[in-house]
Formats: sequence, C-alpha cells, structure tokens
Amino acid sequence: MPEKQKMFEKIVIANRGEIALRILRACKELGIKTVAVHSSADTDLKHVRLADESVCIGPPASAQSYLNVPAIISAAEVTDAIAIHPGYGFLSENADFAERVEQSGFIFIGPRPETIRTMGDKISAINTMKRAGIPCVPGSDGPLSDNGHLNQEIGRKIGYPVIIKASGGGGGRGMRVVHSEASLSNAISITRAEATAAFGDDTVYMEKFLETPRHIEFQILADEHGNAIHLGERDCSMQRRHQKVIEEAPAPGISQEIRDRMGKLCANACIEIGYRGVGTFEFLYEDGEFYFIEMNTRLQVEHPVSELITGIDLVQEQLRAAAGLALTIKQEDIIFNGHAIECRLNAEDPENFTPSPGTIKSFHAPGGPGVRVDSHIYDGYVVPPYYDSMIGKLITYGSNRESAMARMRMALDEIIIDGISTNISLHQRLTRDSAFKMGGTDIHYLEKKLGL
Ligand code: ADP
Repeated sequence: MPEKQKMFEKIVIANRGEIALRILRACKELGIKTVAVHSSADTDLKHVRLADESVCIGPPASAQSYLNVPAIISAAEVTDAIAIHPGYGFLSENADFAERVEQSGFIFIGPRPETIRTMGDKISAINTMKRAGIPCVPGSDGPLSDNGHLNQEIGRKIGYPVIIKASGGGGGRGMRVVHSEASLSNAISITRAEATAAFGDDTVYMEKFLETPRHIEFQILADEHGNAIHLGERDCSMQRRHQKVIEEAPAPGISQEIRDRMGKLCANACIEIGYRGVGTFEFLYEDGEFYFIEMNTRLQVEHPVSELITGIDLVQEQLRAAAGLALTIKQEDIIFNGHAIECRLNAEDPENFTPSPGTIKSFHAPGGPGVRVDSHIYDGYVVPPYYDSMIGKLITYGSNRESAMARMRMALDEIIIDGISTNISLHQRLTRDSAFKMGGTDIHYLEKKLGL
C-alpha cells in the first residue's frame, strides 16, 4: 500500500466525458498530476488533452476499455500513479474492481470494497441501514421464499400495491409493481427469472409501493478517522424511466430542522459502517416520511447543486478523504445558502429520446451570474455513439429558488449546441411548467406530463 495521509502525487482518471474533466479540474487545483485512460474513440476528449499523461486502454466498446480492469491497472502501473478515481457509472460501484485496485497496491478513490459490496446488495443495504436507525420502506425484511402462502401473508401485511425488487438490481431494472394478490405469485416468478438473467442472482424481496413519492437524497462526506458530515439534500424527482433529468438543492419544502435530523442520521450511519469518502443516501419521501431505498457509494452526477449551496468542492474533499486525510470541515461549518438547479444535457431527440450522436458544429456556452457549465463539448467535437448520451450539465445558482430558476431559463435560451439534437427544448418547457415552478412534484410527474 502506498503511504497514506499525504495528498496524492498522481492519479488515474478511469472515466470519460464531463466527469473526467470535473475530476481533472479538482486535481489541477490541488496540484495532483493526472493520467487520462481512454478508449480509441475518445482521443479527442477535452480532459485527455488537458491531462499530464494519457493512455489508450482499448477499443470503443466499454467492455474492452472503460470496464477493462487489467488495462486500467496496467495504465496505473506504467505511469506510476498512486490512486484510481472511478468517476460514476462504469466501475465506480464494482466491489471486485475496488478490491483488485487495492490488491495491486493502488488506492481506490471511494469507500472500502466491503462497503461497496454490502450497499450493492439491496437486502443487505436495507438491513444495515435499519440497524443504523435509518427509516426504510415497510417490506419483507429479507428475501422471499418459494412458499406462495407465506408470500401472500407478507403481501397482506404490507398492503397493496407492493413492489417486487431484485436484491442485486440496479439502473431501474428488476422491479415489478403488484396491485392485487391475484398477480403476486406470477410477478415474483417473472422478477426472479429477470433477476437471474440480468444480475445472475434470483434473490427478490417485497416492499410497499409508494404511489406519489418524491426522490430526496442526502449527500454525505466521511473520512477514515471516524468523522462524517452531511451537505444537505437534493430533490431529484424529475425523472424519466427512473433516470434523473433535473435536480435541485435544497429540496422545496424541507425545513432546516428536518434537514438536520435526516442529515445527522445519515452521517451517523456512515460512522457506524466505517464509510469513507462521498456517498448518497437515496430516499422516497411521501406524506412527510422518508423511506430509504439505496445508497450510492460514489460521486453523483448531480453533486454540483450541493457544491453551489454549500461552497464545498466535493471532488477535492473526496480526494482528501481517499488520501487518508482527516476532514477539515465540521458540520457547523456547513452553511446552506441560496438555491441551485441542474439540467442534464443529453444528445438525444427531445420528442422520442433516441440518442443523437454526431458532430457538434457549434457550441456557445451561456454565462452571467450564477451560471456553471460542466461539459466536455466544444466546436467540432464528435459525440461518439458508444456511450451514455449525457454531454454535460447546466447548473444555475441564485439567492432563492425563483432566481436560480430564472437564471436557468435564461441560460437555456442562451446556450447553442448545433449539429446534433439535444434535450434543451424539453428543459425550456419544464422550467416554464407551473407545477415544477411551484416545487414539490412527485417522481411520476414528468412521465405523466410527457404522456408516457
Ligand atoms: P435502482 O438501483 O435500479 O436505481 P432503486 O431501488 O433506487 O433502484 O429504485 C429506482 C426507482 O424506482 C426509484 O427512484 C423509484 O422511482 C422507484 N421505486 C423503487 N422502490 C419503490 C417503492 N417502494 N415505491 C415506489 N417506487 C419505487
């Protein structure tokens, strides 16, 4: 193991696009040298050009490049890097990868592999959180058996509708809503079969299906020395197919008292499980109650909205924590100020959401007070067809929600991305939508509005 408690000299950024650039910027500010590892389709990425070194780790397909564990570890070896930052997606929540990184003598910038493993299994995550006093959705308290009568009894106790979920599930897959007892056993069998095919694990469990919840998540930051703090919550209810489209902080209608209570619960849970680095506790929020659904053990796409209202650079803090340094910020140092909104910019058709890769003929970034653009695109950049369609994030800040929203509308009207289709027009519509402007819409609102 390299020496800990000293800031890294050099790290590998094992990701692409806007998040790789975001990590590179944090490294530059901290004086850390960077190695960009990239596929052969990504030689023209902005961060590849800006990094101190770059290594091509394989062909365009993610399986042979961004998911190619031996190639990433070899790149760290040949460049004498100390640590590997996985970003989000790809290998960021892969416990085997984290373990391989550490076994090879590097530092994984994230929590311990055991933590990732526990949180990656939804049943074990829920059980861990229950023990730590985190409120969870009423459910089967463990895996379902093949005993139909027993399952019916569990269903009756929870009350319909219920949702059958794969314990190893992710990415919004491996879930099935059941409205009455008549369809219960069939739904369990189908979810089991899907879970086996998709995740290689047929373990399923049951929980109450909440009908009009909001998605509210808490950002935490922890070090290896038993300190953990929270940076408040984000509202990510604007979703399509369980994918977040717009996020904001703070969540409309959440009082400082609730923020403190829930945030402290999450921070304490982190101390209890020996958590390290940045992490997110995701909750469904309905009728004034929070219900834990999962923990993300990595940096999130939507982290900038928390940065803007707290003034904390989460990526720099994540790097410090991974290097074994103690947190320099205490909970009482976190002052929540103003409001921030993030719109995810996707290269996709705004009507039917099909991806729209291709050449960006011209790009004009918006500006003015309170406008932040986290994006890797530039004039002439070719959006490759192989990866996620997100090409950046537009984030605005204001002293209150109305101001952040007005600045977002202005920024969306100012930004120009020519040559490919984007979802800018969808965001223009949503930021003018009366219910969204009021705040507090639930997770089904966007799909209903789109007539899906
Ligand atoms: P994944 O790991 O696949 O993202 P999650 O457990 O985070 O799965 O759930 C994804 C989404 O599915 C949630 O944001 C919510 O929209 C919906 N969902 C999950 N559990 C429930 C539930 N008990 N009631 C209502 N909706 C749910």
